[in-house]
Amino acid sequence: MSGSTLKAVTVVTAVLAGLLASAYALGHSLVPERHPSTAGATTSAYGPRYADQPPSDGPGTPGADPTPDTVPDTADGDGPYGAHVSTGSARVALTFDDGPDPRWTPQVLALLGQYGVKATFCVVGENAESYPDLVRSIAAEGHTLCNHSWKHDVNLGRRTPETIRADLTRTNDAILAAAPHARIAYYRQPGGVWTPQVMSACAAMGLTPLHWSVDPSDWKTPGPTAIETTVRTQTAPGAIVLMHDAGGDRSGTVAALQRLLPELLGRFELEPLPTGAA
Ligand SMILES: [Zn+2]
Repeated sequence: MSGSTLKAVTVVTAVLAGLLASAYALGHSLVPERHPSTAGATTSAYGPRYADQPPSDGPGTPGADPTPDTVPDTADGDGPYGAHVSTGSARVALTFDDGPDPRWTPQVLALLGQYGVKATFCVVGENAESYPDLVRSIAAEGHTLCNHSWKHDVNLGRRTPETIRADLTRTNDAILAAAPHARIAYYRQPGGVWTPQVMSACAAMGLTPLHWSVDPSDWKTPGPTAIETTVRTQTAPGAIVLMHDAGGDRSGTVAALQRLLPELLGRFELEPLPTGAA
């Protein structure tokens, strides 16, 4: 090997190592840490508990997939694979995942109603089927509904295109069975484990892939003060805030929300994500 070839190989190796390190760091910064429970849903006193975490072989690292050119035009956000991490305006969107839940969703709805705030609920299909009245309340009170998969499968993006489409369709159908006039314009991948395949399904179904920019990791029950502090200090114009109204003991989220709503309203306009509906 000549000196110049050796030098070129060394440079390429260094660049590749740097890219891999960046992809690793990015993937990990976008995805919550592993839930104490294992993959899938388990049942507790607080209802179904979802593993909000990618599998052990890591998240779908942006840029590391060999088929990034399959990312559709609708995925024009700045998050992983083009998922949206901003409202696109100065307004801030509060989003609540994993419900509806008969214990926590009514408490979140009551607080939002008390402050006149509209938000976005990313509902799990099997929960929408179990609690259609709550889905109906979410829609009737002017909040936006978002598809969060049928049973919170963090590996859904790695399954066949047919399986992904069937899962998202089944979830949309459960939402529409409860709230026939709802317009479902968004999909949020459980665990944030986006893949080109799930992006393609979103594009085919007219769903905007929705990620987030502020994550207080409330599903890890860090306590209301930690949740409140993270949201209060990290929320900036255009933020999409991720919280949960199901999947475990959400008393901390509810308590934090009570403190956050007046504080955020003093600094931002809060909006339900637009659905394009009249
Ligand atoms: Zn979730």
